[in-house]
Amino acid sequence: MEKAIYPLKNMRITQGYEEGTHIDSYAIDDAGKNTNIENVYAPFTGTIKKIYTQDANEVWLESENPVEYPDGTIDYMTVLFAHDNDISDLYVGKKIKQNEAFYQEGTAGNATGNHCHIECAKGKYIEPGWQQNEAGYYNIINAKRPEECLWLNNTNVIDNHGYNFMEIPIDIINAPSDEEIIESPSTEAPNTPPEEETDNEAITEEAKLRLIYTCTKTDLYGIYLKEGEQVYLK
Ligand SMILES: [Zn+2]
Repeated sequence: MEKAIYPLKNMRITQGYEEGTHIDSYAIDDAGKNTNIENVYAPFTGTIKKIYTQDANEVWLESENPVEYPDGTIDYMTVLFAHDNDISDLYVGKKIKQNEAFYQEGTAGNATGNHCHIECAKGKYIEPGWQQNEAGYYNIINAKRPEECLWLNNTNVIDNHGYNFMEIPIDIINAPSDEEIIESPSTEAPNTPPEEETDNEAITEEAKLRLIYTCTKTDLYGIYLKEGEQVYLK
């Protein structure tokens, strides 16, 4: 099951929710690493449900399947993006894969510098996509705080605006099984000298281990493990 990933590689939130033009909403603006235009990646595999070109080229993307929220909730998610200057390659019904660079920062609509306006909503897309709030701005229906929807995945956090986004837990992928690397004596060639056996075994083990994380600071770490997974510490 997918987890919705924060859609920019560099997080620099320049306007949070409940402030400025985001009053009475859970909208955030992310301007990326610098003033340049950066790609916006699909947080999940989904379908474009609505495009609104008369304002800030808003695009609504609905998840194809339920996703896992940071609090463990499983539900569909809809995310609204705004300000891409050119969305001529997008259309309602277009399928987008998770991590696909389908949108960009920009200044379309009422924007002063290149950024992407992001709003998250719990559940499937609801017509007409947004509603006018008490401050007069239009916001996604069923809005939810972005840090309660999106996960960081090696995201370069420059400014999180004080929001505590959760990191996707370290996943132990394809850890070699006992039979593959440890119980190798049964497959030994009969004429191999004992010293070489040991060397071969070490090389095999090294080749099959996959680096998933390099510890940069001595500390306590928690990892999420599924039944049957194994951890090798080097
Ligand atoms: Zn905004």
